[in-house]
Formats: sequence, structure tokens, C-alpha cells
Amino acid sequence: MTSIVVLGSTNMDLVAYVTKAPARGETVTGRAFRTIPGGKGANQAVAAARAGGEVAMIGAVGADDFGYRLRDVLEHSSVDTDLLRTVEGPSGTAHIVVDDEGGNAIVVVPGANATVTSLTAGDEALIATARLLLLQLELPLSVVVEGAAHAHARGVRTVLTPAPAQPLPPELFDVTDLLVPNEHEAVALTGRTDPHAAALALLDAVPEVVVTLGAAGCLYVARGAEPLTVPAPRVRAVDTTAAGDTFVGALAVALAEGLPMPDALTRAGTAAALSVRREGASISMPYRTEIDAALA
Ligand code: ATP
Repeated sequence: MTSIVVLGSTNMDLVAYVTKAPARGETVTGRAFRTIPGGKGANQAVAAARAGGEVAMIGAVGADDFGYRLRDVLEHSSVDTDLLRTVEGPSGTAHIVVDDEGGNAIVVVPGANATVTSLTAGDEALIATARLLLLQLELPLSVVVEGAAHAHARGVRTVLTPAPAQPLPPELFDVTDLLVPNEHEAVALTGRTDPHAAALALLDAVPEVVVTLGAAGCLYVARGAEPLTVPAPRVRAVDTTAAGDTFVGALAVALAEGLPMPDALTRAGTAAALSVRREGASISMPYRTEIDAALA
């Protein structure tokens, strides 16, 4: 039995570092270039597998070099990729220009991710055996709703990261058990600027919400329970890329193992704090032994 299934995206991030971003029609010389395997789905899958979960990924990569590398990163972290399709055409890519002031401009080309429009019989069978299904919004919305509805109807707990921020249809809220927005997404979904107010407003739509608050930790609210704030460990942040995905991956493992929510949130915050101390996205994600050691 696979305890955690991720229905989500794979992307290769192509990052150019420049002094100043080019204006329209201008060419500038960059300082450095990196390719960083990512996509919120793949990041959450790697985070959960490294945190000790048994994880399978449903999604798609393209029939190109990036596709091989994206699959390889998942397999190296022991994520089951049997249901990760390889499709004609390019893998998903994010073209990112980072300037010296830390500002960025990003073009995302969904590529293979856009071909995942519905579940196969194999996907459905796998999801039905899981404890949790992790979803984000980088696949077509139709398949996100289909996957969440399929899981929810079978008693599989659905955990939705509503990123990138966008309005959500009521039928997706109806089949979401736990919503995990960051502060910006919580505000975008509710129009409330205070994260507490936003979290409480979201309880009208879903039974449980965790709002991640960066270095301030996270806020948990559930219907009929007192709100709970869990501070983040204080660390020197080097690179917060994919901190949110690391948090969700580790949270999913803790919940799949039956930990009560406060303990699960502490583990998730510890894992995310470990990841921000190191450079990179999936390569910065901690293994279970590191999380255990940090909590000891
Ligand atoms: P990203 O987009 O970078 O993946 P996010 O915006 O989705 O992140 P955040 O709320 O910034 O999500 O961070 C997620 C979690 O990571 C936080 O709840 C916290 O536990 C941890 N975290 C983030 N930044 C820090 C930090 N500077 N120090 C300690 N923990 C952090």
C-alpha cells in the first residue's frame, strides 16, 4: 500500500541570474545559470519520501532530457513513478530571471503537465489505497477536482496547496479535507489581509486549514477547535525555495502515521526549517534521520 499519493506537476526551473532584467527588445549578459528540478507536485513528493513516507507520483514529464532528469530526481528519492507518464513534447519548464535585488520575472510553460486532464483506471486504483492525496494547482483544474473527488469519496484525506493563487471552484473546496495556503494565498482566496481572519473565513469552505507564515511558523484552525499557532524554529535562512512544499510533504507523512495535528505541525516546521538552511529546492529537503535528530 502506498500511503501518500501526489497528483501534481513536474517542472524544470531554468534560472538566469542577471544584474538587471532586460527590458523588451534588450539583450543582457547573465552572471550565472542553473537548472533546478521542481514543480510543486514533484517537490512535495520528494519532501514526503525523504521524510520517510511511502510515496507515489501521478503526473507527466515530456519526452526530452528534462523529463529524464525530473523522473530521475523522483526515483532517487524512492518516489514510485510507475504512474508518471512520459508524453510527446516538452516537459514543463519555468523560465526565471533573477536580478541583483532579488526580484524575479517568471514564465511557466506547462508542457507535459497540461496533458494530465483526467485520471486513468490505474490512477484511480492507486489513489483509493492511499491514506492521503496531495494536490496543488499546477495541473489542469479539471483533474485536480477529479482526483480530490475520487479520493474524498473513498475516505482518502485530501490535502490541497492552493498555489499558484487563483479562485477555486466550490466543487474543489467541497472535496478538500485540509487546505494549506501560504499567507499570500490565504489572503488571495478570502480578501482578508489578516491571516487569522483569512484562516477562519476559509473554515466556511473546508474543515481544516493550515496557513504557513514563513519564519513565523504556521497557524492551524479547524471547525470547533481553538486556533493553534506553531512557531518555526529560528534558523539562518539561506534559501527558502520550496519551504512550503517541504512543510506539506513532512506534514503528510506525520499525518499518514497517525500523529496528532500539533505534533505533525511541529515535525513539518522542523523539516521546512532544515530546508531553508540549505540552497536549492528538492536537494535541500531533509531526510527523516535529520528531522528526528533536530527534534531530539
Ligand atoms: P515557498 O513558496 O518558498 O515554498 P511558501 O511561501 O509556500 O514557501 P512559507 O510560509 O514561506 O511558504 O514557508 C513554509 C514553512 O516553511 C513555514 O510555515 C515555516 O515552517 C518554514 N519556513 C519558511 N521560512 C522560514 C524561515 N526563515 N525560518 C524557519 N522556517 C521557515
